[in-house]
Amino acid sequence: MSTKAFGTYAADQPLEHLAIERRSVTPHDVAIEILFCGICHSDLHSARNEWHGTVYPIVPGHEIVGKITQIGSHVTRYKVGDIVGVGCLVDSCRTCEHCEADLEQFCDNGHTQTFNSPDKHLGGMTFGGYSESIVVDENFVLRIPENLDLAATAPLLCAGITTYSPMKHWNVGPGKKVGVVGVGGLGHMAIKIAKALGAYVVVFTTSASKFEDAKRLGADEVVLSTDPDQMQLHTKTLHFILDAVSAQHDINAYLNLLKVDGAIALVGAPMEPLPVVSFNLIMGRRSFAGSLIGGLAETQEMLDFCAKHHVVSDIELIGVEDVNNAYERLLKGDVRYRFVIDMASLKKS
Ligand code: NAP
Ligand code: ZN
Ligand code: ZN
Repeated sequence: MSTKAFGTYAADQPLEHLAIERRSVTPHDVAIEILFCGICHSDLHSARNEWHGTVYPIVPGHEIVGKITQIGSHVTRYKVGDIVGVGCLVDSCRTCEHCEADLEQFCDNGHTQTFNSPDKHLGGMTFGGYSESIVVDENFVLRIPENLDLAATAPLLCAGITTYSPMKHWNVGPGKKVGVVGVGGLGHMAIKIAKALGAYVVVFTTSASKFEDAKRLGADEVVLSTDPDQMQLHTKTLHFILDAVSAQHDINAYLNLLKVDGAIALVGAPMEPLPVVSFNLIMGRRSFAGSLIGGLAETQEMLDFCAKHHVVSDIELIGVEDVNNAYERLLKGDVRYRFVIDMASLKKS
């Protein structure tokens, strides 16, 4: 079915209106009218081919909240009218060791991402959430808890799970001192989630203008990371650091802040290498690790956790016509703290 969408034909072109094809609903699929879609910095990296793997045209968007409009004949988990979410994954092999362990993000046979992945049904590439509708296998659809604001919930589908998953893996909780680096879409969710998990949260930002917000979001302390004196005060004090910076930066400045056996989980994905000074790892048996989104079961767990703790994203709601401007603001770190597209604007335009 021909579907309205917003995407781009080339790395150096702005996003614009285009038409994409969505498959007909198969027995295990649901069709979803997209109500809201968050803008992740990964959308920008991909639209501009910064990771060198983009196939054009691309329609980004993997923070999707919408309403089910049609279900396939074998669908058991959802009914027409249900409010649901779709995150970064729309399929995986479902049989490898990682899929069996609910870690579909690490599927050995290649998972299907919501956009810019080979489309098993239609050929070509998958198209994401900057569109009026999407068709997804019910096993890759999330249930949105009833008490959450829908637009502010959309960013949980990527920014929420990408910060929740490593925090669970590295046992963030009461008695733990946790650093969050970069107060953008991911970083601001990391602050809220670390706080809800019961940790003491120290936020590192390059933007003095975000100090007050960081405190309001839950930070116990805020550090201007460009000030060596302020950084020095936190040497060897943190159990865990979540690094959500979208551009190249000095990782060694943060390794030095870890206690013995502390770990940094990098979720930010700049293309440039991040050089590590060996002694910063050796002295203190520290770990420098990474983390990729989260599996479907853990994403549902995160949504339920956020509902229980009243955690959603701080958003700026925009229309599709503002997406290119939002990308420019993302590049400047000027985001408070997630742009979300009201998809009604696509239908109108
Ligand atoms: P974002 O909203 O643009 O936030 C990035 C933040 O990083 C900025 O707000 C800024 O915070 C800081 N920053 C930007 N440029 C910087 C620089 N040159 N030096 C130091 N700090 C800088 O981006 P996002 O959507 O949160 O995504 C962050 C990164 O995570 C992206 O690379 C994205 O692709 C990646 N990502 C990874 C996963 C995963 O599964 N691993 C999932 C989603 C996204 P301050 O102003 O506070 O310094
Ligand atoms: Zn994302
Ligand atoms: Zn698999």
